[in-house]
Amino acid sequence: MKVRKVPMRMCLGCQEMKPKKELIRIVRTPEGSVELDATGRRNGRGAYLCPQIGCLRTAVKARRIQKALGVEVAPDLITELEGKLATS
Ligand SMILES: [Zn+2]
Repeated sequence: MKVRKVPMRMCLGCQEMKPKKELIRIVRTPEGSVELDATGRRNGRGAYLCPQIGCLRTAVKARRIQKALGVEVAPDLITELEGKLATS
């Protein structure tokens, strides 16, 4: 049996390794802004999170997103992400 290698990334909230496809990606664009990357293919430095509010909150509280991306995350973006996760 052939095992296909699934790309794994660490969630910044619970810090578990999960398949990239199951995580949401936040990207620092070359322009320096931080945005949700719905396609997972945008250029820039990425940070990964489970699509769960709890993981988002933990990551924000521990400032792990800021550290991973090297920039501040606007409160607006966090609110936007919370809204998206709450409805999905
Ligand atoms: Zn998580």
